[in-house]
Amino acid sequence: MNHLLHHDLQNIVALAEETLTLTKEHFSRQSSLPPGRFVEDLILESLPEKGLGAQGVLSYFKENYSTKLSHSAGPRYFGFVTGGSTPAAMVGDQLVSLYDQNAFGSNDSIAPQVERQTIHFLKQLFSLDEDYFGTFVTGATMSNFVSLAIGRQWVGEQLGIDISNEGTFNMPVKVVSAAPHSSILKSMSMLGIGKKNIIKINALPDREAIDVKKLETCLQSATTPIIVVANAGTVNTVDFDDLQAIGALKKNYNFWLHVDAAFGGFAALSPGYSHLMEGINEADSITIDAHKWLNVPYDGAMQFTKRKDLQLKVFQNSAAYLGDPNSSPDYFHYTPENSRRWRALPSWFTLMAYGKEGHREIVERNCSLAKKIGDWIYTSEAYTLLAPVRMNVVCFTLQEEGISMERVKVLLDRIRDDGRVYFTPTVYKGVPAIRAALSNWQTEEKDIVMAIEVLKEMREQKK
Ligand SMILES: *Cc1c(COP(=O)(O)O)cnc(C)c1O
Repeated sequence: MNHLLHHDLQNIVALAEETLTLTKEHFSRQSSLPPGRFVEDLILESLPEKGLGAQGVLSYFKENYSTKLSHSAGPRYFGFVTGGSTPAAMVGDQLVSLYDQNAFGSNDSIAPQVERQTIHFLKQLFSLDEDYFGTFVTGATMSNFVSLAIGRQWVGEQLGIDISNEGTFNMPVKVVSAAPHSSILKSMSMLGIGKKNIIKINALPDREAIDVKKLETCLQSATTPIIVVANAGTVNTVDFDDLQAIGALKKNYNFWLHVDAAFGGFAALSPGYSHLMEGINEADSITIDAHKWLNVPYDGAMQFTKRKDLQLKVFQNSAAYLGDPNSSPDYFHYTPENSRRWRALPSWFTLMAYGKEGHREIVERNCSLAKKIGDWIYTSEAYTLLAPVRMNVVCFTLQEEGISMERVKVLLDRIRDDGRVYFTPTVYKGVPAIRAALSNWQTEEKDIVMAIEVLKEMREQKK
């Protein structure tokens, strides 16, 4: 064994203790990291011929890199929909690396069974029918990708073509949606469906939710079986398509219904919001992210479908030594990856640790705090609220004539450099805007008071 490896093995406890110090610092509210930051490009160095040893690298990392990170998993990062990592999820994630199981689905470890167990929990959390088959993928983009792949296979089945075998050449696959997430288009590109095959349906007035009557007109005139992507929680205003009404159309029209509920799916956890998810069980496939509102580290989302058979057709990986998909839960026959990180474990940890109640509390707290920001903006003379705060996202802009994206960015850069809170820009119905998305388990009232202070102060220093 190389002497550095040998030395690290002998000193593994000291190494673990040093990592522990970083963990403590990270979870302290006094974290010295700003929520967002601007960093210069890194000057790349050459690969060391002789290594530094793990301890040496850790010191190097602490000195040169750790101070340039952002506290994006902390309580005042309101960009994108980022979430964070609960203490239990963090422990689970560290164990994933420690045990390094390949959760591909053989019977030589309990790891894949834990994934099945976690999926079972999650179906209960989101009130999904028991007959959904579910797997973990790396994020909602991959979940949308897998879902559209199964939908595409279904379109082929309707036309008597096995796309997994024949390919999609000249196959008309149309995807219909009102406000699809960009990852739907990316998935269409990756799947060879082609981005131009999206059919955009108008949203209802002042909404991002689909006009179901217009959708029905589109279905009436369709000449081929199509894929409908319904949105359960749009990124700008957390608007929901009427899933019940769309589901009811299935009686008269033949289409694949995919629901992108990446973070909106968490509406199901709270009696105040669960009506938004009614009708979800009409979906043929569903996307829900774990690394957003479940507050597990990145690299975790769920994909659910009622057509496990079609999923197998798309993803089956035949090789004698890899086993029979019918006799074991062989995940690699159902997901894009063959070897797979044991990414269900952090979710299992957090669900076991905090239960339904704990996760409901996070969702409800984030929503009520978002509403507080929204209420303040509504009365403010410096900002304009662009949409009602439906759940955890506040979409607003500067109150001034002819607002430009440049103006928004100048303000957001100033807020970022101030270092107390962090927001990201967006465009809502053609208007350059700001989003505050709350999805972190640590965010509390005092963070909102601070965010409002920052919004006031930074707006005052206009010039
Ligand atoms: C975040 C998001 C995605 C993409 O998710 P990733 O986890 O970043 O891949 C897709 N759809 C919706 C609605 C989202 O909010």
